[in-house]
Amino acid sequence: MQVSASAPSPVYRVRVAVPVYLYDCFDYSLSIEQYQQAQIGARVAVSFGRQNLIGVITDKLAPDAPLDPSIKLKAITELLDDQAILDSKVLSLLTWASQYYQFPIGEVIQSALPALLRQGKPYNLLARTWKLLDADAESKIKRSERQQEAYKVLKLHPSGTAENLLNLAGVETATLKALEKKGICECVLDAQDFSPMPVSMAQMPLTANPDQKKAIEAILKARKKYQAFLLDGLTGSGKTEVYLQVMQEVLKQGKQVLVLVPEIGLTPQTISRFQSRFHCNIALLHSGLNDSKRLQAWQAAQTGKASIILGTRSAIFTPLPNLGLIVLDEEHDLSFKQQEGFRYHARDIALYRGHLEQCPVVLGSATPSIDSYALVQNGKMSCLELNQRAGSALMPKIHILDLKIAQKQHGISQMLLDEMKKRLDKKEQVLVFLNRRGYAPVLICESCAWQAKCPHCDANFTVHRTPYQHLHCHHCGTIHRMPDHCPQCNHSELKPIGMGTAKVEDSLNELFPAYDVIRVDRDSTSRVGSWQKIYDKIQKSEPAILLGTQMLAKGHHFPYVTLVAILDIDSGLLSVDFRATERTAQLVVQVSGRAGRGERKGDVYLQTLRPEHPLLNTLVQEDYRQFAKQTLKERQAALMPPFRYAALIRCESKDQTLNKDFLQQQAQLLRQNSENMVDIWGPIPAPMERKAGRYQSHMVLLSADRARLHFYIRHWWLNMLHQKPSSMKLTLDIDPQELS
Ligand code: ADP
Ligand code: ZN
Ligand code: ZN
Repeated sequence: MQVSASAPSPVYRVRVAVPVYLYDCFDYSLSIEQYQQAQIGARVAVSFGRQNLIGVITDKLAPDAPLDPSIKLKAITELLDDQAILDSKVLSLLTWASQYYQFPIGEVIQSALPALLRQGKPYNLLARTWKLLDADAESKIKRSERQQEAYKVLKLHPSGTAENLLNLAGVETATLKALEKKGICECVLDAQDFSPMPVSMAQMPLTANPDQKKAIEAILKARKKYQAFLLDGLTGSGKTEVYLQVMQEVLKQGKQVLVLVPEIGLTPQTISRFQSRFHCNIALLHSGLNDSKRLQAWQAAQTGKASIILGTRSAIFTPLPNLGLIVLDEEHDLSFKQQEGFRYHARDIALYRGHLEQCPVVLGSATPSIDSYALVQNGKMSCLELNQRAGSALMPKIHILDLKIAQKQHGISQMLLDEMKKRLDKKEQVLVFLNRRGYAPVLICESCAWQAKCPHCDANFTVHRTPYQHLHCHHCGTIHRMPDHCPQCNHSELKPIGMGTAKVEDSLNELFPAYDVIRVDRDSTSRVGSWQKIYDKIQKSEPAILLGTQMLAKGHHFPYVTLVAILDIDSGLLSVDFRATERTAQLVVQVSGRAGRGERKGDVYLQTLRPEHPLLNTLVQEDYRQFAKQTLKERQAALMPPFRYAALIRCESKDQTLNKDFLQQQAQLLRQNSENMVDIWGPIPAPMERKAGRYQSHMVLLSADRARLHFYIRHWWLNMLHQKPSSMKLTLDIDPQELS
């Protein structure tokens, strides 16, 4: 029979987002049966160029939709899920995020999937067990070494082995499937239980104080719609109690609660505060999990089995069928912003998601970001204040010590050392804060002033003494052996200058031999379980010195600390980044907030070479809110974010002139095409011009009109990617948090 030209035969197609750095989705064909089965939000295996990739279906095309004859359609390789694993709300969230941050949709969608699903593993992987059927099959698999290996492993476990364990042992699923075809083994599916566990109270709530009560009532009033709240409460004012009591009501309605915390805030202490209040399934989602645990937690969230989802940044993209509340604690924390690849801010995504899902979003902090205060000012967010410390604790007092005139031992003011001794002798704990790990930030020759510098960066090497003496570049990771003489003048006295936590640890051990010094930084907590050990020590009412970097500053509750010593924040007072003072103020207030959270009042001593700095004076004489007010005014006067919207272009190559010329030419193009709506700064060399052997240049774009800014950038950016030399790396950072 002849097919008439007017009735073309239908072509079954799906549109697929594939994980490649390209801004489009791609169409693939499939059979009618597959088409009927295919769901938007399900995974497919496809071939792309010469790669085999796992993509997600974003659309099913109508069979009679027009077909571009110039494009050769490929067929999908396999449908991997018979149901959507990303629901339509999460897909719209991801699509929006991809457009807002101008990052390829395929990559954005991938970032929402746990690693095992990203790799194409079956959704029910954790319920799949492989069992041997034929224990006498050697002769059938003589030709395949892989099958022989798999067969041997299966034979060791006659009752069956979980597929993910087999995969870990190097046995691939494809090999098992080949054995299954030959009748040698079979795959058994255990039933996975995704039914939610009923929620009940494990512990009675505390009696809320008037501020807490007001906050709880305001949030609960908005329970069934979108409203954003800033819970602006002093350190120790009981913000967590507010979250818990609001959660209680939301959970009672059978809804899920998503709680986001900063990366290093997800400690056993935080987890146990939620666990000890509610009996329910809590899914933990953070980067420390292995792939199976992560899949398990993600599935508990995605099926509705988990009622509370407690996670770090990327948990904001978890599909949640019953979302009723989003809480983002320590909302000012920089770890909510992803600083590489898909550079999203979980706080902004949370606000959009609340809007999409029609549920309240609560951002909490003792030191809210200036961005959030601006949203309050514009009426886009309601501010709820907690003005007193909960229970009987009082706010600590900050004292400034002028290092220029102070008597010192080991770089620490004598007066501060005397205060420390007093507290320790009274069996109290002291927290010493220094945001610099390692032994010393500089190694210098005493004779000719040569300094040990990283050969690949514009930066000094940091001296480390453990586990052995070495030099380490904290910017590119280069490690060098410790020189025993000066390479410039051959002098043999090389001196470490300045202090890092490891050096202060030595000094404190020498100055206070009778007391324990507990160091907390990335070097000392890298081992699994070390946090737990540190906590156990801190929670005992015994005198001790806690010494650490900003890991110590985050939301922790140390009931026996009555004195906080801040050794050096001067670099934060000098930085050129317009957000540097905001970050420094947050750090000072957060670290200070660790003092006096128990029954005794706390004091904070801050030693500095710049005691006259206005930031310090505002914090001492007034408070963080006053500082924030002033900063908002300054930003408004200078037309800086959040009063204008920003985007940062980072350009990196081995040739700084190439960077500069390229950016200049691009700036020119943007100027011509953006009707004076975009203010362009730069190109300028990055604050650290050379990093890991490559030169970095920046260009900042600012505009009062966000929609217009994004509109211009969209076209210009794609063009720019096409035109750039292949040796150059370009990144676009929408709403950048750091200009470095
Ligand atoms: P924040 O999160 O604001 O820093 P926390 O929630 O950690 O403060 O509370 C600090 C301490 O105060 C905790 O020990 C907490 O149990 C206690 N607390 C909170 N609310 C109350 C309350 N209403 N009555 C008594 N104690 C409270
Ligand atoms: Zn020298
Ligand atoms: Zn380096």
